[in-house]
Formats: sequence, C-alpha cells, structure tokens
Amino acid sequence: MNIRLSKTKYLNGLQCKKLIWYVYNEPDAIPEPDESTQAIFAQGHLVGDYSKKLFPRGMEVDHTKSFEEGLKSTKELILKRVPIFEAALTYRNCYARADILEPVGRDKWNLIEVKSSTDLKDVNYDDIGFQCYVYTGAGLKIDKCYLMCIDNTYIRKGDIDPNKLFKKIDVTDEIKTSYSKTVENNVAYMVKAIEAKTFIEIGIGAHCNDPYNCPLIDHCWSFLPERNVFLLYRNKKLPMNLIQDGILELTEIPEKYKLSEKNQIQVDCEKTGKPHIDAVKIKEFLSTIQYPAYYMDFETCGSVIPMFDKSSPYQQIPFQFSVHVVKEKGVKPEHFSFLADGTKDPRPEFMAKLKEVMGTNGSVIAYNAGFEMDKLKKCAEVLPNYNKWVDSIEERIIDLLQPFRSFAYYNPKQDGSCSLKKVLPVLTGKSYDDMEIGDGGTASAEYCRVTFTDDNKDKEKVRKLLEEYCGLDTMGMVDIIEQLYILK
Ligand code: SF4
Repeated sequence: MNIRLSKTKYLNGLQCKKLIWYVYNEPDAIPEPDESTQAIFAQGHLVGDYSKKLFPRGMEVDHTKSFEEGLKSTKELILKRVPIFEAALTYRNCYARADILEPVGRDKWNLIEVKSSTDLKDVNYDDIGFQCYVYTGAGLKIDKCYLMCIDNTYIRKGDIDPNKLFKKIDVTDEIKTSYSKTVENNVAYMVKAIEAKTFIEIGIGAHCNDPYNCPLIDHCWSFLPERNVFLLYRNKKLPMNLIQDGILELTEIPEKYKLSEKNQIQVDCEKTGKPHIDAVKIKEFLSTIQYPAYYMDFETCGSVIPMFDKSSPYQQIPFQFSVHVVKEKGVKPEHFSFLADGTKDPRPEFMAKLKEVMGTNGSVIAYNAGFEMDKLKKCAEVLPNYNKWVDSIEERIIDLLQPFRSFAYYNPKQDGSCSLKKVLPVLTGKSYDDMEIGDGGTASAEYCRVTFTDDNKDKEKVRKLLEEYCGLDTMGMVDIIEQLYILK
C-alpha cells in the first residue's frame, strides 16, 4: 500500500490506532462530517482568509489540478521567497501543507499554523510538530514555529483588523526540542498499524473524544445497552472504569463503587422507574418566587469574526427574547416577544424592548439564568445606560435549573440530564421533537441565514418558527413551575 500521511491522518493515528486503520483500509465505514463539523470547517476557512491579509505579498499554491502540480507549484514559490499559503511538501511517508510559510532572511522560513481557537492546545504541538518534521525533512530551514489563533480580547471597531484579530504564539522551543524525533517514531508505528491485515482492537475510552470526537463512535460504542453507565450525571471518569470492569447497565453498578449523592439518586430511580421528589427542597425553591413573575429566555448568535462594532470574537449577541408574565399565581400568562430584523446590531433595540416589558418588581425566572444574566451584563458594557437596570434584574433573578441541578426533582426519563429539553417533556408532556427549529444552535444558524445571507426566501417562515421555539421555552417554564406546585 502506498501510504501518504497527511497532518489530519497523522492526528487520527495519534488519537487511535484502530481509527487510522479504518481511514486507510475501510474508508467507506467512516461517515461524512455532520452539519456542525462542516460549520466548523467553514469557520476555519473564513479565519484562514483573514490570516492571509497579514501577508499581502503572499501567494497561494494551486491545489486544484493534481497532487504533483501542488508540489511543483510549491517548489516554484519557494524559489521566489514570498510568503506561501498551503505550501505542499513530502518527506518519506508524509505530506504537509501548513497554512503559511513566511520567508526569513536569505534562506530560512517561519512556519505558521492558523487556528480559529482562542488558545494553544496540546494537539497544536502535534499538528505543528508534524508540519515541521516534513518541511525540515524536505530540506527547508525552519527558523520559528508559530500558532496563530484568535485573540478574544479584540473588540471590533469598523472594518476587521487582522493584526488585532490574531495573536501569535511562539512554539519553536517545544517543537524543535521534542517533536521531530517523536513524529518519526509515531509515523513508524502508524505505518505498521495501517499495513496490518486487520485493526488492533482498542477499547472505548476518553480518547474517543480527545482531542476530537472520533467519527467511529457510533460504530465502536454500539455494544452499549440503551440505559448504560454513561448516563451518570456529570461523571465522565467512573463510567470508563465501570466499562473496563464489564459493567454496562446503570442498574448493575455494584455497591462497592462509591457514587455521588446525585448519581445514587439516579441509579435508585433507574431501578424503581419512579421519580425522586424532595418536597421540602421544592417548596423552599417555590417560596422564593414573587409575583408578578417574569419568565425570560434569550436566543443569541455569534461568530469567530465579530459581527458588530463593540463586539469580540465568539461573543454571543442576543437577537430574540420571549417573556411570559404571570401576574399572580395561577393566572393565565401574558406573552411578550422581540425578534430583531435587519443587519444592524440588535442590542440597542433588544435592551430597550426588554426593559419595557420587565416591570420593576417581581421575580425574573430563567432556565440556567447565568446565561441570560451574562448577556445582559455584556450588553450593558456597550450600553452603559442600562447598568443600573441590569443590576436590578440580577437582584430579581431566579434560576429554574436549580431544583433540577440539585436533584430536588429527578425522573429517570431525564437520562441523566437537567436541561430544559429533557425536563420539560418529563414534567409537562410538551416536547421540542416535532419543531422544525427545536434547539438553540439551529435557532442561531437559521436566524443568521435569513438575516445576513441571500439564502432567505423562507425568511417569514423561519421567523415564525423562531417565535414558536423561544415562546415554548418560556411557556414551558411556566408549566414546569405549575407542576412543581402540584408536587410539593
Ligand atoms: S471510537 Fe474510540 S476506539 Fe473506536 S476508533 Fe474511535 S477512538 Fe478508536
């Protein structure tokens, strides 16, 4: 077999020998990247385009014709001593295409790898170490190695400034002192694993999600029963140990394993099939609610490239709210909502409209309220007139997640999760399942599509679906509180 290890395949091999065997021997078994992975790729391309602006003399290697043409074109550009994007070189079984090669002095080069992340991760050393190994082996003199990633302290003012959008981290010492020999050894074992008649059986474990979610998870994890130990609430380590000891079912965890209080409640509920209800704690929680009660939920959008002035990379900008107001306990709620339109910054209108409906007294109830409070505080940073009002909201806020996160109420149908998406159907029978927009990620993506792109023929329909979705979040909270009153 003619093995040519690219950086991506090398990282596959580092993650798991079984995965690298499949990549070469049974590529059809590996599913196509899903929508969210593709969105991450698209984001990476966008970041790559901005990074190139930092090298106006830079030239791109043409990879559209053939592999050999890419190598040939790279050699020509190397002679020109210009910054090169995606320079393609081979060495032994390996093939590298680093994002940027920058000429230094008469005959040296800086190797720059561009990422859309906001900091250096361990995997970046492997990534850059591999590129450096190949380029050096192919005869280039590498001076410095850099990771160029997103500086999330950058605040947009006018056009995007690539000089401020990126930060460069020098990883030369780490790469040159420890990575070249390591890469050589790793490549050797990978080649052996790939050439083997069959894959090496590797058990499932933390490596299946580290540093990336392995595309073969569905395949390798399929032996687990439906009610398996990975449903344990906020517990990643114990399930791995249990699997190694051959314990797969939640109900089969022997007593010798010390469980947290919440995990124990979960296992007990699993065995009885009945919910756990701590009426005292629920009553205590409900006693904190003061009427009128304002049930509040936001939807947000964000991008690695800040969308508006006075916003930062990845900052989540609120574009929609839903508020249900219950004036007195048991009274029918009144609904208020806002959904931004147009391409301008939605924050000023969002804050003005929200302030109009929130009154001055009574509880403000949100699910995972820290999210909503964080968005309000970030808005007040750029709209300081709202500072005092945001403080007053914080004094009134109650987090409806609390009785579920504390396991005052737990139903085995929640599958070890306290999210609103799990709690709502269990307590009220309502569900997000049949909704065309039924989660925050889709809401954000659809809003951005119909608002900021030309792909918006269905804009009115999408806006209606967004209203329905956000409205269900707050009406659902009203219903959950009503159910808690019944339980207490
Ligand atoms: S799912 Fe885990 S065990 Fe299976 S190939 Fe991927 S990393 Fe290896």
